[in-house]
Amino acid sequence: MTGATLRGKVQTVAGLIEPAALAATLMHEHVLCDLNPPAVSGSNEPEPEITLETVWAINYGKVKHRTKYRLDQLDVAIHEVGRMVSAGGTSMVELTCGGLKPDPTGLAEVSARTGANIVMGCGYYVEEYQDPRNAERTVDDFAGEMISQVRDGAWGTDIRAGIIGEIGCQAPWTALEKRVMRGALIAQRETGAALNVHPGRDDDQPQEVADFIAANGGDPERTIISHIDRTVFDEDRLLRLADSGVVIEFDLFGIEHAFYPLSDIDMPNDATRLKLIRRLIDHGHLERVVISHDICYRTRLTKFGGHGYGHIFENVVPMMRRRGFSEDEIDTILVRTPRRLLTFI
Ligand SMILES: [Zn+2]
Repeated sequence: MTGATLRGKVQTVAGLIEPAALAATLMHEHVLCDLNPPAVSGSNEPEPEITLETVWAINYGKVKHRTKYRLDQLDVAIHEVGRMVSAGGTSMVELTCGGLKPDPTGLAEVSARTGANIVMGCGYYVEEYQDPRNAERTVDDFAGEMISQVRDGAWGTDIRAGIIGEIGCQAPWTALEKRVMRGALIAQRETGAALNVHPGRDDDQPQEVADFIAANGGDPERTIISHIDRTVFDEDRLLRLADSGVVIEFDLFGIEHAFYPLSDIDMPNDATRLKLIRRLIDHGHLERVVISHDICYRTRLTKFGGHGYGHIFENVVPMMRRRGFSEDEIDTILVRTPRRLLTFI
């Protein structure tokens, strides 16, 4: 598959499609993944089953729980993505990349059984999840692997990635993660794909990564910074980041509580997310906003008591209308900007 073949198309796990076929699109989800670091994943320590009685403590982080972080049940995945389709979502970006147990064949099956367009990511998540052999690898080696994941197929299959990422960064940013990022920037240039970044949990890191990308030949307009909701809390930083041209992704829609077990922050709720998006629009950044749920554990699925992949369509879009978002703004955020980003250039 050459660059010329990809240009002007969107690449899903089922093959190339016309951009017009992408209607409402979630830009950051996980359908099949394992968010346990490799060191934890194989542990046999007993843990409670997820039930009505245990789910609150498991969600609050009081119980260390490996199964919670495993999305590995194909029948559940089909049911849950099917609910998104029933709610009006047609497409999603699935960013389970290296270190998170990507399953391209499983995604192709979910897509075939539900009719959802699934665009798969590639590259590597943060360092502690990566194969220890990556420590010896060069920028060009990482670039070559990502280019081939887009052109030929990923993770031992002939199923091709349609976006690069989520590329894992931490604060402080490690030398290995920077090499992977440099490789991703080469792959972005070579393939014409968009790039998705997972920034570290520090409010200055999204800007650090955005500046690095601009200084190292990346295309900010085709770079999406994920997880803004748990990373940037003040308007100055938010607007400065958007001014640097990158796409701002609020991807924790559906998390309605302020407590966040992974760091000591006040998580915004959906209404607050919409207020921040409104501020971005007021400053001329409508075309730099995308939204999603970033579902990566079981208890956010409807089968386990969660909101599921349909939440944005069922609940957030009506809330946007009630809060004065125009149909044009909603369409830009959910359809036009995802379409622009997912179309190869
Ligand atoms: Zn992430």
